[in-house]
Amino acid sequence: MSREENFKNIISNIDISKYNIYEKNIVSNCLNTFRDPKESWTAKKYSQKRFADYKPFQFVDGEGVRCSIYLSGCLFGCKECFNESIQNFNVGELYTDEIENKIIEDLSQSYVQGLTILGGEPFLNTQVAIKLCERVRKEFGNTKDIWVYSGYTYEQLQIASEDKRELLNLCDVLVDGPFILALKDLTLKFRGSSNQRIIDIKKSEKENSIVLYLE
Ligand code: SF4
Repeated sequence: MSREENFKNIISNIDISKYNIYEKNIVSNCLNTFRDPKESWTAKKYSQKRFADYKPFQFVDGEGVRCSIYLSGCLFGCKECFNESIQNFNVGELYTDEIENKIIEDLSQSYVQGLTILGGEPFLNTQVAIKLCERVRKEFGNTKDIWVYSGYTYEQLQIASEDKRELLNLCDVLVDGPFILALKDLTLKFRGSSNQRIIDIKKSEKENSIVLYLE
């Protein structure tokens, strides 16, 4: 199913009366709220290896107590992006061994369930995200889980460039897809719009179809 058909299906199931401004042309409004990814969107071309923020010991970016790093830069340009200020690849600080060591130290606390990588777009910062994930696996094996947020869908990442697939395979849970304003739903756990899915990456790979980690 093409991306447009997929979204048309999703959109046909929503109650548009809740979205007064979108009552007309809801399909085109939905489709126009973010940019479709291009093959030219590569980490090599765009990443400045920067992070905009690091928040240890919080509860909002996934299950349990987590340490979250927000990598700088995103090209999807979703309307009302929750983190618009860090769509710029040049904001924030350079990712260094110092911040990596701090993240590892924080993750070593027994009450911390895992790491969350978000942005910005982690898959356009694979140099940083892969290095960090490999370090987490080296230090903790699979005892800490890794969540990653992306404007790409799982299906897009599966056939994307090698670095994007490598990052996907290093993570446990993917929260996928762009934020679509017309599908915004504040009742959803750990995501902003109803097109976004919380996917169990390892099980999905094993079963060769999407297995949700959480509904
Ligand atoms: S994909 Fe995420 S970070 Fe990028 S513009 Fe959309 S909401 Fe913002």
